[in-house]
Amino acid sequence: MQKIAIFPGSFDPLTRGHENIVKRAVPLFDRIIIAVGQNSEKKSYFSIEKRIFFLETIFADYPSVEIDKYTGLTVEYCKKVGANYILRGLRTSADFEFERSIAQVNKKLYPEIETVFLLTLPEYTAINSSVVRDILRHGGDPSLFIPEGLSLG
Ligand code: ADP
Repeated sequence: MQKIAIFPGSFDPLTRGHENIVKRAVPLFDRIIIAVGQNSEKKSYFSIEKRIFFLETIFADYPSVEIDKYTGLTVEYCKKVGANYILRGLRTSADFEFERSIAQVNKKLYPEIETVFLLTLPEYTAINSSVVRDILRHGGDPSLFIPEGLSLG
């Protein structure tokens, strides 16, 4: 059976932290689908098209990495695409507490699914999309926090 993982998130925008988790997961799975969640209640900074474009640009040379979008329950999306793993990154103990309950609920909803966590590298612990958005709102340069070579313009 193929090992198919989804990496769900908002990616608003993609950061070096996300990029690092996906690249480290490439040897672990046959396919990784980066699934951009569309949440009608959450207003995003970047449009869904832009968020997908940034991901496609950075992972263009990774044939096992695909980009998609979804709405609704993550486990329903997993069933639809035949994914048996959910990939998530962990930065802090707060992430752990949050992720633990989601993973346990997902396991109840869909017992075949396994959530796999990769710990962030220490240098990426402080990076998150909201920091990048704040820098952009205030006219700063977020290039240290987003993948090398990515232009958000
Ligand atoms: P969400 O809206 O689900 O929090 P994000 O786009 O913020 O989506 O994050 C998607 C995934 O990437 C989550 O598993 C999150 O923990 C992980 N992640 C975010 N930033 C980092 C980072 N700096 N290092 C490692 N993992 C990260």
